Amino acid sequence: MIAQSDLGLLDGFERALINGRLRMVYQPKVSLTDGRLRRVEALVRWDDPKLGAISPSKFVPLAEEHGLIDQLTNWGLRTTLRQWLKWQEQGLDTCLAFNISALSLDHLDFPDLVERMCRALNVPTDRLVLELTEGATQPLVKLMDTLTRFRIKGIGLAIDDFGVGYSTLMQLRQLPFTELKIDRFFIEDAPSSKDSALIVKSIIDLAHGLGLTVTAEGVETVEQLRLLRDLGCDTAQGFFVARPLEADALQDWRVEWRERWETLVDEEPELL
Ligand code: C2E
Ligand code: MG
Ligand code: MG
Ligand code: MG
Repeated sequence: MIAQSDLGLLDGFERALINGRLRMVYQPKVSLTDGRLRRVEALVRWDDPKLGAISPSKFVPLAEEHGLIDQLTNWGLRTTLRQWLKWQEQGLDTCLAFNISALSLDHLDFPDLVERMCRALNVPTDRLVLELTEGATQPLVKLMDTLTRFRIKGIGLAIDDFGVGYSTLMQLRQLPFTELKIDRFFIEDAPSSKDSALIVKSIIDLAHGLGLTVTAEGVETVEQLRLLRDLGCDTAQGFFVARPLEADALQDWRVEWRERWETLVDEEPELL
């Protein structure tokens, strides 16, 4: 049974998807060593004229349940790759992160499809990282096969929201991830809670031991940024650095952030 409110939402979403009324915003991720822009993560947005802004946490699962996720993924990835080209033309050289649904991994030809899309738009595959949240329904062996295909093509793989879901240490060891993103749940109280800080530190060390780079999600304060840097975290993402931005705002943000980073470094010499 699907609730009436969900039906309305689904209907609205399908129309927005078909009529090109979805858009992508982009959230920067910066190095904690030198403050530089490392990547931008593409995040889908849907503003319904009547319902207002609806969170992807609501409509992505709906799209997954009702057979619309492939269409959403194709549209979103193509839009993001095209945007990469525009930035490139403006002299803004960056890498991309794109969220994919675990359901997409059920298609054996999904890695080929992504590679073809990159080729068609002349985006080097090593500029792309796919972010996966757990929820993969496949047996580990099959998942391993699909993920390995991506890696062979040079596409990076990040495990998203690490620490709050079902991902096991065994998967982390066996699957060919290149990056781990620590869920913001742990980042939130890390400066005030010794236990959280210890967990964050342990995840960072573990990930580094396995050869993964580590990103902290949901960095909202300078205290969190400083702590993460002290704990050896590689990159940070969150409202303190930047909210998800319209594509055109990335250049201005970069200039503004560089100044802010330099002030931070000046205020605290050991941040250098
Ligand atoms: P995610 O990939 O873990 O993305 C991070 C979410 O946290 C984003 O929410 C982002 O706006 C938000 N966020 C970033 N920094 C902060 C912060 O400092 N504080 C707080 N409180 N939040 C922060 P958003 O855009 O609502 O996306 C929610 C989830 O929906 C994403 O989680 C991702 O799993 C999914 N999603 C978003 N766009 C897409 C898409 O194009 N395709 C698919 N399959 N999933 C998507
Ligand atoms: Mg993500
Ligand atoms: Mg996340
Ligand atoms: Mg998430």
